[in-house]
Order: sequence, then C-alpha cells, then structure tokens
Amino acid sequence: MRANDKKAQERHTTAEERHEAARDEQNNESKPYIPLASGADDGWSKEDLATATCFCGAVQLAFPTQGSSLVASFVCHCTDCRKITASMFASNFTILDPYLTHIRGRDNLTAYSQSKTITSGNTMTNYFCKTCGTLMYRLNGARPGRNICRIGTVDDFNLHETKLKPMGEIYVKDRCTWLSPIEGAKQIEGQSAKK
Ligand SMILES: [Zn+2]
Ligand SMILES: [Zn+2]
Repeated sequence: MRANDKKAQERHTTAEERHEAARDEQNNESKPYIPLASGADDGWSKEDLATATCFCGAVQLAFPTQGSSLVASFVCHCTDCRKITASMFASNFTILDPYLTHIRGRDNLTAYSQSKTITSGNTMTNYFCKTCGTLMYRLNGARPGRNICRIGTVDDFNLHETKLKPMGEIYVKDRCTWLSPIEGAKQIEGQSAKK
C-alpha cells in the first residue's frame, strides 16, 4: 500500500470511529444524552440531580433524580391531561417541594387554576412559561408540596428512558384507543391512591 493510501485509510477509520463514539453516547443510557430541544443549551445531568427547561429556555428547574424526594413517575390519560398537554396523555414525575429548585425564570411563570374538570373536585394550579407556554408543573390544592413535573421538559433524554420511565399509568379508562399500555407499568383505571 502506498503511503498516501494508508494515510487516507487511517483518516477514514478515525472519522468512522468518531461517528461510532457519538452513536454510543446516545445508546449508552448511563451517560447523559442532551439533544438540542429548546432555546437553551445549558441543561445538565449529574448522578443524582438534573435540569428541566421550558421550550424557549427562560425557565429552568433542577430536581433530584433519585431518593425519596422523587415520589413517582406516571402517565396520566385523563381528559384534563389530554387537553392541557394538547396531546393524548401527560407524562409526569412528582418532586417534593423543598427539593425542586428554580434555577431561573420563576417570575416568568404564570399560574392558571381551576377545579371544574378535576374528578376529585380539587383545584389544580398549573404553572406555564409566560413566553413559550410550556407547562412546567402542576400543584393539587389537596396535596400541597407535591410538584407534578413533566418528563418531557427534562433535558437529559436518557432519564426519560431510565430513572423517570413511568412506573404506572392512571386513568387508563380514558386512554386513547390507538395507544398501547407501557410494558411493565402498573395499570390503574382511575386515580392512583399515591398520586
Ligand atoms: Zn419558555
Ligand atoms: Zn390527568
């Protein structure tokens, strides 16, 4: 092999290896995978703490990804969640109050409360980014201190697949017919007692 050909082949191998390394990062669920998914590019994920950011980037939260302050992760198919997410279900995780930190943008949140559509009759207060409209979390008036956050706002997409993967599905009686149950997730007809 001529020296030039050898050099070209080496370069080729290196580019291929680089490409493979990037692909490994996406597939390796033990490492953060933070794709560009919002106006902000400063989301992060550590061993037990990670960020959640709204679509425009004005609001950023930090929350624990393990331990007892992460209460639950669940999908809710109720009619209220379908409407408020403008989608077919809400994917939630609950964080106890002192552990949810507002990194920035708390004053850029707007609150909307109502009790009309809530089965229990309780008031739910929803906190949206004023700029882009992302729903960051909800609070149930009857269960203060339990912030119902949104898995989709979490910057490290590998957490969606691992630590935040829904443990259960509630209001499955309202689930859209073209959706299947999540494998391994507890199926609950109505409201979970633990929500
Ligand atoms: Zn925003
Ligand atoms: Zn719901």
